[in-house]
Amino acid sequence: MSTVILAEKPSQARSYAAAFAKSQRGDGFISVSDPLLPADTVITYGFGHLVKMALPDQYDASLKRWSLKKLPIFPDQYIYVVPRDKKKQFGIVTGLLKQADTIVIATDSDREGENIAWSIMREGHIDLQHKRLYRLWINSLEKSAIREGFQNLRPGGNYYFRYKEAQTRQISDWLVGMNASPLFTLLLRGQGAKGVYSIGRVQTPTLYLVYLRDMAIANFKPEDYWLLQAECWSGRKKFIAKLSPDHKFKSPAELEEFLLKNQLDFDKRKGIVSDLKREKKSVSSPRLFSLSSLQTEANRLFHASASQVLNAVQSLYESKFLSYPRTDCNFITLNEYGYLAQNLGRYASLLADPAAFQPQMPLAPNKRYVDSSKVHEHHAIIMTKTTPSAAQRAKMAPLEGKIYDLVLRRTLESFMKPYFYEKTTASIKVNDLLFKASGNVTLDLGWKTLESQVKDSELPPLEQGQELTVKLKEKQEQTKPPAKYTEGTLIAAMKTAGKDLSEEDQVILKDVEGIGTEATRASIIDVLKKRGYLESKQNKLSVTPTGIILCKAAESEPLLVSAEMTAKWEKALKQVGDQERSQDNFLSQIKRFIQKMLAEVPGKMQIDQNLAAQVSEKKAQEASLGTCPVCKTGQISDKGKFYGCSNYKGGCRFTLPKKFAGKTMGKRIVKTLINKGKTDKLDGFISKKTGRKYSAKLKLNGDKLELLFD
Ligand SMILES: [Zn+2]
Repeated sequence: MSTVILAEKPSQARSYAAAFAKSQRGDGFISVSDPLLPADTVITYGFGHLVKMALPDQYDASLKRWSLKKLPIFPDQYIYVVPRDKKKQFGIVTGLLKQADTIVIATDSDREGENIAWSIMREGHIDLQHKRLYRLWINSLEKSAIREGFQNLRPGGNYYFRYKEAQTRQISDWLVGMNASPLFTLLLRGQGAKGVYSIGRVQTPTLYLVYLRDMAIANFKPEDYWLLQAECWSGRKKFIAKLSPDHKFKSPAELEEFLLKNQLDFDKRKGIVSDLKREKKSVSSPRLFSLSSLQTEANRLFHASASQVLNAVQSLYESKFLSYPRTDCNFITLNEYGYLAQNLGRYASLLADPAAFQPQMPLAPNKRYVDSSKVHEHHAIIMTKTTPSAAQRAKMAPLEGKIYDLVLRRTLESFMKPYFYEKTTASIKVNDLLFKASGNVTLDLGWKTLESQVKDSELPPLEQGQELTVKLKEKQEQTKPPAKYTEGTLIAAMKTAGKDLSEEDQVILKDVEGIGTEATRASIIDVLKKRGYLESKQNKLSVTPTGIILCKAAESEPLLVSAEMTAKWEKALKQVGDQERSQDNFLSQIKRFIQKMLAEVPGKMQIDQNLAAQVSEKKAQEASLGTCPVCKTGQISDKGKFYGCSNYKGGCRFTLPKKFAGKTMGKRIVKTLINKGKTDKLDGFISKKTGRKYSAKLKLNGDKLELLFD
């Protein structure tokens, strides 16, 4: 009779073992002993998932070949398999679990961790009726946290529905992917597109968010507008005041007409300070970090991708320096607050300038950051009790060091005073028109002491009733398109299902439903990049031509692309975890959705001219060897007997031969020629007169091909 602790992966098992008095490594497990533990305890581990869902052809070999006739694929029973490279460990783990009388689930403290453990127990046919089952739930991998966790093990059965939730998510993703990907791929191939088009329950609406943004930018037509401003002089000091209420004039003529109506022009004149308001304002430090807000901030500051940030935080968690990373919570409990408060000096010593940290005295927990009622599974990402030594900090990967520093400052700032400033608003009357100017002056930097420089915008000293010299002027502006998504802003958009909400709004508004989970968003973006639907250039995301085709096709099923609907599904999935909805109920809704898609999409796609045009445009692009060097608009491609320009109908007669001076002109040579204007030295030209071979460079002179000899 024994106790078996089931960890998610070997590194986690080693962290647990290191927290106990004695440990000895075995094959696929670690024996441990400690006064905290019953005699005969072992830690064993998965390699992440040891069990995965089988592919359709493992249900029915004929499903290996995709066919519309074979859809939908709705198995009565889902088959799970153990991949070959994990079979040995699966045998070891299930062997140990069978013998155990007590099992401690110690996989990651989240839904996916639950799924990993319960899937192994299910496929291993572990008879849980006759075993005691516990759950280890921790927020950090430090020795003290692990020991505390083992002293306070929770009943394992309490988490069963978290596993059901994760499993429902997994099956739903399987059903959508296994049915929608063949459907769309086959239909698109019917339209002439090549390759595989992969559809995902969360992946596709995420891609579509970027697509909508790209479209909004492409369709954006900038418009000029004019503003009326007043240049004001108080003595020799100048400042700008804006018309109040502000108005955008469509043309300079409209602005001048407005001036005329108010008996004004652009000459110098007098203005009066009609009102002067001084207000003391304050700004609290930002909320503590959840994973997504950390991903957004680290992308903004360091241009790191969402998965790079997740990997860095995970590594800092495994090094025991940061708390559990995959959290969507911005709060800590009094517990964490207590130990942070007692060790502020130690944490501050890690700052570049430790003296810059001045806590607000007397210390007291602030509800903005410390609220036990808002911490459900994991608290915000903060530093653990273990602080890195100078040598350990130097050894951190560059991004890890930056992220540790970011979390350190954000956490310490929550112990500092707000930033206080005085805002001065001056109203200036010019005839009957009112202009307003404002300036900010810092009173107390507060938490901003740990941030970069704050720029004040000071107004010159003014008095009520003061007379100023004023010159009105017009300022031309242009409306701006929305900004491209970055991985940081896309993560934020996924969290709000595309709604434009600040982090502050998200915390305050209840029931903001997002798409994906805190743990999966980074990998969803990665998959979209890997499949070539999304590309990131200079930290800006765009949908690729293949991704555009996918989006245009998927549009024929609005449910498939709607972030809002996906967010509602996410909410329904959480209800499975809270026992407010059954797995069957959720899966039957997914199946109804798939049935509807299979019934409606083929007809809609057939009549979609827009999609057909996109497919042929992409084909032309793929066939293209480059832009025509003569007309600069057509694309050069292989026309069979020669290379020619697609702008033939538009009058461009540029062609290149397939053979020149006895040498075959391959696509690579043509590509170099039209893109660079000339080639390197090439062998294989044949003299007509002598029949001898010679080498030369090829050069394009306008539309004429020439040989170049050095
Ligand atoms: Zn041309």
